[in-house]
Amino acid sequence: MGSHSVQRGPGGGQEGGTTAAASVAADDADGSADRPPAGGLLGTITDLRSARMSAGKIGHFRGYLSPEERAAAGRVERYALQAMAREALPGHRVGACLRWLHVPPRKKGRGRPPTRAVEVWRKVGERRAFYGGLVTCGNVWACAPCAAKVAERRRGELEEAISTHRADGGGVVIAAFTFSHMRADVLAVILGAALEAFRQFKAGRAWMMLVEGWGLVGDIRAVEVTWSIRNGWHPHLHVLWFTSCPLGVEDVASLQEDFSERWGAMLAREGLHASEGHGCRVQVTYGAVADYVAKFGYIPERELPWGVTAELVKAHAKRGRLTHLTPFDLLRQALAAPETAPRDLALFREYMAAFRGTTQLKWSRGLRDRLLPDQAEQTDAEVAARLDSPAERLGRLCLDAWRKVLYSGQRAELLRVAELGEWDDVEAFVAALPMVPVERIPRVSEWEVDRR
Ligand SMILES: [Zn+2]
Repeated sequence: MGSHSVQRGPGGGQEGGTTAAASVAADDADGSADRPPAGGLLGTITDLRSARMSAGKIGHFRGYLSPEERAAAGRVERYALQAMAREALPGHRVGACLRWLHVPPRKKGRGRPPTRAVEVWRKVGERRAFYGGLVTCGNVWACAPCAAKVAERRRGELEEAISTHRADGGGVVIAAFTFSHMRADVLAVILGAALEAFRQFKAGRAWMMLVEGWGLVGDIRAVEVTWSIRNGWHPHLHVLWFTSCPLGVEDVASLQEDFSERWGAMLAREGLHASEGHGCRVQVTYGAVADYVAKFGYIPERELPWGVTAELVKAHAKRGRLTHLTPFDLLRQALAAPETAPRDLALFREYMAAFRGTTQLKWSRGLRDRLLPDQAEQTDAEVAARLDSPAERLGRLCLDAWRKVLYSGQRAELLRVAELGEWDDVEAFVAALPMVPVERIPRVSEWEVDRR
């Protein structure tokens, strides 16, 4: 164990659809609260206990955490959210993410048999450990670890595109597109209608005149959704618009008027409408654009759903006072408040069904080639499986050791041990974990039959 070698680039495949994308190096933006397999929600809540307890220890002293400790605590939470998503979506590939071994495809009878071990890597010169040789799902909607990793990369791309464009004398504005909705609305229906309205918004002769008149070069649109007990689902679009020249504040007011009018007309065609004629809000300041980019895909670290604050979350959940929840907030709330968990998980499933096949961040045609000509576009799955900086392999865990880690829900904790200590410490940590009961052996690969 403990062979050292500097890792090459990504080893990811990009099988789309339902096959999880593979990775050699997975999850360097990650944390853990995992759980052994369990039947039913109650089982999950019980099984999440160990993750919560160790996270709680961190949570109580959150105010005094160093950035590194804070990152580790965030990782604990992301793994916990992933475990909850796994519970909400049986059979979904998020359930294999950072749990199952990745087996590279090989021709029958040729090549090396797959390594049956989980690798632990550490970034060179950084206290940052991550797993290698595991499946990563790359699903930014369902999987908090993958979402965090992909967002980090996409933020970098956005920043670069914006600065390149500005350096060339262009301008950037940010526009938010919203519409009225009601509690009874079905998410899949209103989301589909809104995306279609936006497609129509950017089509036809009238649109070409706006493009010419305003010098619109291209756009990058992000789609987001929140949920509130009062108004139900609130899907909306944030669009970065690149203009040939910077616009002034007065220009922007007028652009906002043009956009709002057209957006309202397109919504009407789809049976939707904007409230008070202001479905579109445009901001032009450098701060507004930078702020949006900095927050893109960021999973806000609200109060952790454990320890002291869990009681607060619970109380709010009961009264429905936590408004405008993101989908990850729903998982967080399900974790904290078992009473409302069935509702929250049902909402999460509805959200996942509605967003299937939707791209989180979409560049208009030609814009990427123009602003980032040297960077080939990678899919979310490829980004999730990719390693961005040199790392060395600390060691390998045999499958029985890995099963113990999964069973005890200690994926994040093991990485922390690897970050703070050496391989001997990791081995001692695993040795001290409880044995896995035969009837509860967690599944660790595609080829293996689920033995629970
Ligand atoms: Zn994932």
